[in-house]
Amino acid sequence: METPVNFDYAPAPESRAIVTIKPTYGHFIAGKFVAGRKHFPTINPATEEVLSQIALAGKAEVDSAIAAARKAYITTWSKLSGKERGKYLFRIARIMQERAREFAVLETLDNGKPIRESRDVDVPLAAAHFFYHAGWADKLEFAGLGTSTKPHGVAGQIIPWNFPLLMLSWKVAPALATGNTVVLKPAESTSLTALLFAEVCQQAELPAGVVNIVTGDGSTGALIVNHPGIDKIAFTGSTEVGKIIARAVAPTHKSVTLELGGKAANIIFDDAAIDEAIEGIVNGVFFNQGHVCCAGSRLLLQENIVDEVLEKLKVRMAKIRVGDPMDKNTDLGAINSKEQLLKIQDLSRVGESEGGARWSAPCDFPKKGFWFAPTIFTGVTQAHRIAREEIFGPVLSVLTFRTPQEAMDKANNTPFGLSAGIWSEKGSRILWASQQLRAGVIWVNTFNKFDPTSPFGGYKESGWGREGGRHGLSAYLKGVGHE
Ligand code: NAP
Ligand code: MG
Repeated sequence: METPVNFDYAPAPESRAIVTIKPTYGHFIAGKFVAGRKHFPTINPATEEVLSQIALAGKAEVDSAIAAARKAYITTWSKLSGKERGKYLFRIARIMQERAREFAVLETLDNGKPIRESRDVDVPLAAAHFFYHAGWADKLEFAGLGTSTKPHGVAGQIIPWNFPLLMLSWKVAPALATGNTVVLKPAESTSLTALLFAEVCQQAELPAGVVNIVTGDGSTGALIVNHPGIDKIAFTGSTEVGKIIARAVAPTHKSVTLELGGKAANIIFDDAAIDEAIEGIVNGVFFNQGHVCCAGSRLLLQENIVDEVLEKLKVRMAKIRVGDPMDKNTDLGAINSKEQLLKIQDLSRVGESEGGARWSAPCDFPKKGFWFAPTIFTGVTQAHRIAREEIFGPVLSVLTFRTPQEAMDKANNTPFGLSAGIWSEKGSRILWASQQLRAGVIWVNTFNKFDPTSPFGGYKESGWGREGGRHGLSAYLKGVGHE
């Protein structure tokens, strides 16, 4: 009898020896780490191990961080030439590259995302954002935004947990390049890479107070938003909190940009290259456990290819390796928190009760930690909650269409408008569809591709303003951004 061939992968764990996690962290204010008064734990969501105690900033810490940022703005940062600011940004970018492995391991431990993604996507892109904006710092008058642009002053920046270091770089790099100083608050469950970034600022000898990092929860974020010493708010997170922030800043002098939620349509026309589209569907919704604001979470399939696509998709999904995020072979890591897992489970139950047919890839989960199998729902209509609300997890809702116009109508039938995907081999159809879709980013025959030169942001409830590219610079300059 022939011995069956075993195609299982041997474990290939990344070592965590490269990082030193302190038992407790303070805030980074005026170039120094300042001890916190209250603390909360941050855990590794793949093991539930407590990694460290993070400080919770209250009014006193937020006041002193904003005062430090104001002082640095007045006394040093606004006095430096663009060329000098650029040198600091280049230095930060290079140090991030040098310490890339440390950042990747720490991000994976704190967030639960696969090391393959933190190592190959998050960290290189974060460094690229600093390199890109370093290049702009002394060329702002050539950005087409006027010849005498001025920074706002002190920027308050609040970021979510899904791409902790990358979202920090989207915020800090353009703010510094344009001459603003910053007070940034990372998300409660993922502060560690922001605190390592604070060490990078020290190593780069960035003048004290140009970057301040206060850790904490939503109440810390609200203190920043409502502080009179802030000139510009940059927020990435949920539409719900985005609305609270919009209301809070409306009667003030503060400028604001909001990067919020999404429910992107990934549209597969019958002339698409199906095998490539399958990879695009998988990358669109299972990348980063589906914790992606621009995830292709609504699959729109042309009716005559539904059976073929679903059959191939299920075969492909069954090959997604779910498990230890520190294993270099892992495709899908841990859900970032118990709360997020409960949200995904709840909405999936709603999907079933509303009549969607659920299929999940077979997986063996580790004993501890928060896990959810790659899942698709078929038989979904536009009225179903799983077709309307952001699930922010590895769950795909499948809808169908007959004509290209029907695909456009369904794709646009959402309060969001962050991204969309088009799969077709026909140029005229691609150009026509790109013009119909009300979404800030449209990918064609690919999905979830990011680049610092390309502006990112949404229509409708997906947000205000753009981050990245020339457009992103305008958000940090007076009179040219989204006021
Ligand atoms: P969230 O609850 O809105 O939190 C985002 C950030 O805001 C966190 O740092 C949070 O602190 C803080 N926060 C909470 N309440 C606040 C308040 N009242 N005032 C000021 N700050 C407050 O969102 P999330 O659940 O962490 O992140 C997921 C959401 O972000 C999804 O909806 C996703 O689509 C969106 N997102 C959008 C983009 C984009 O670029 N458009 C990118 C990534 C994620 P705590 O964490 O401590 O609560
Ligand atoms: Mg954590």
